[in-house]
Amino acid sequence: MIGAGVSGIAVARGLLRDGHDVTVFEQRDDNRAGGGAVTIWSNGAAVLRQLGVDMNGAGQLLSRVRVVTSRGRRLATLNVTAMADRLGAPVRMVPRRLLLERLLEGFPIERIRCNARAVGVVATGRGAAVEFEDGSVARGDVVIGADGLHSILRNVVGAPAAKPTGWCSWQGLVAIPELADSRVAMIAVGAVGNAGVWPAGGCEVQWWFDLPWSCDFARPPRPLDVLRSNFTGWSETVDLVLARLTNDDLAGSPYPHFRHPIAAALPAAPLTLLGDAAHTMPPTLAQGTNQALLDTMVLCNALSGVRNEATEISRALRRYEKTRRRRVSAVSRVAALQLAHGESVLRPAGLLPDRLHTRILTTFLAWTSHRRMSAEIERGLAAATPIALARP
Ligand SMILES: Cc1cc2nc3c(=O)[nH]c(=O)nc-3n(C[C@H](O)[C@H](O)[C@H](O)COP(=O)(O)OP(=O)(O)OC[C@H]3O[C@@H](n4cnc5c(N)ncnc54)[C@H](O)[C@@H]3O)c2cc1C
Repeated sequence: MIGAGVSGIAVARGLLRDGHDVTVFEQRDDNRAGGGAVTIWSNGAAVLRQLGVDMNGAGQLLSRVRVVTSRGRRLATLNVTAMADRLGAPVRMVPRRLLLERLLEGFPIERIRCNARAVGVVATGRGAAVEFEDGSVARGDVVIGADGLHSILRNVVGAPAAKPTGWCSWQGLVAIPELADSRVAMIAVGAVGNAGVWPAGGCEVQWWFDLPWSCDFARPPRPLDVLRSNFTGWSETVDLVLARLTNDDLAGSPYPHFRHPIAAALPAAPLTLLGDAAHTMPPTLAQGTNQALLDTMVLCNALSGVRNEATEISRALRRYEKTRRRRVSAVSRVAALQLAHGESVLRPAGLLPDRLHTRILTTFLAWTSHRRMSAEIERGLAAATPIALARP
């Protein structure tokens, strides 16, 4: 496995659970994760449950998402509680570092090799070999690229590179106790861009401001002035966030949005891609982490019971890619829809009842989440004797 992000650790957990021998190679020198918070929708929460990851008390559970215009006009209120009831698992915001910590609880840490930057991958007669920056080589029956947006394995299998969408997010976590103590998330949509404030647990909120971006983008010396000039007056919540942020809070931003064309079919080799390496998408639907977890479920299912035989392994990998392709393509297409619009374009959406907005999103998530497979796996796990993640 290349990459110890959410995808890499999740799939390693699943494969170890199923009795496979797994090693994760990570270029960073430790297992700690940075970044802001991610949304775990019901589809991702179900996979975490199957992996035995205890999410109790992590981050902030959500009950509603309010969508408003830049002038405060109500567009929709998504009933997240109803959605979670229908889909069978809660929806929560979790800081990425905390999600990684929970995924690593009970994980045999000796299975992760840090300071191991992969620089090449080749399919061999019996499996594949990964070459690292320090000249060392590791061999295995299968190599999984969970190495994110700029995946090296993606280049090796000839999958098309990610393209910028023309937008970026300024984003992060900030402590604002008076906004964090809530289960209601907010998105504001305007002509210049979008803003969001989502409680993320403790006293932290995840904030973001989406603005246009191009390859010749030059970082302004005082980016907070740019955010304030575009978003001040959108709502009391947005104004409070803008008042609390400092230019230091913007140090890691902006994050340009990229989207991968979903690869049609990978070559018949013991190589495959997972998570952002397979399908980086804009954060519009907050589905990146959830799609990585669904990949995990489908890949573990495809490899379960497969004998150590090259043709059988390759068939299982192609089955995983085929099962995911149509659904992940649909999610990626919707995530790529540009939300920034003027009031007049947005007005019709505000005429629809909230129930309908909630039902449309619930149905879409249900359709894209392999619900039948998920239910079968849960039934199988409930019937099985629990096994330790580490092999003897
Ligand atoms: C720093 C960072 C911050 C993020 N912040 C947010 C956020 O605030 N909100 C949000 O919704 N999503 C965020 N994401 C994205 C989110 O984590 C992913 O969309 C989702 O979790 C799927 O992750 P992934 O494991 O597929 O990829 P990533 O999270 O990108 O993980 C890939 C891993 O592979 C490692 N890697 C890459 N190349 C190599 C190589 N050649 N050799 C060895 N290891 C390699 C990387 O160091 C990384 O640990 C962030 C991602 C990163 C990397």
